[in-house]
Parts: sequence; C-alpha cells; structure tokens
Amino acid sequence: MDFKVEITCHNCKCKFQLRPVWFAEQDDLSCPNCGKEIDEDVFLHLKSGLKELALVPTIFPENASVFSAEKENQIQFTFDIKECDILGNET
Ligand SMILES: [Zn+2]
Repeated sequence: MDFKVEITCHNCKCKFQLRPVWFAEQDDLSCPNCGKEIDEDVFLHLKSGLKELALVPTIFPENASVFSAEKENQIQFTFDIKECDILGNET
C-alpha cells in the first residue's frame, strides 16, 4: 500500500511529507527547508517500518475482484492507514 508520513521540523516550522518509495533510496534524512538532520536511529526506524508497511497489500487477496462470483477470488480484507493526533485520537 502507499501512504505518506508527515514530518514537522520545529527548527524552521515547516512540514514535509514522504512516501515509502522515497525512503527506499535514502541513507539519511534532513529537513528539505533548513537542512536540520534527523537522528540516524529515528531515520532507520522510519525507513524499516515504512518498508514493511508498504509491503502490506491494499486489498487481500491482491488479485481479488469485486466482480468475481467465486468466493476465493473475492476481496477478504482492505487495508488503509488513518491519521491520529499527538494524543492518539483519530483525526
Ligand atoms: Zn527545517
């Protein structure tokens, strides 16, 4: 599945969003506006976590069809990511 992670830089007060495909090609991460570097441990957790989440299919089975009459070809689950605020409440 595809999704975005929003990062707020409190050094320059900007926000930027990153998708899993972007992380796959990066070895480090810094604010695109002011250049403040993000801690390497945090970056590595983000990178590995996003890589794993990106491997979760949007629908399961991946070749399922809403039009299929055969039960094994029908969609069993769909996956989506929802935003929560800093207190853990859904927004
Ligand atoms: Zn910044």
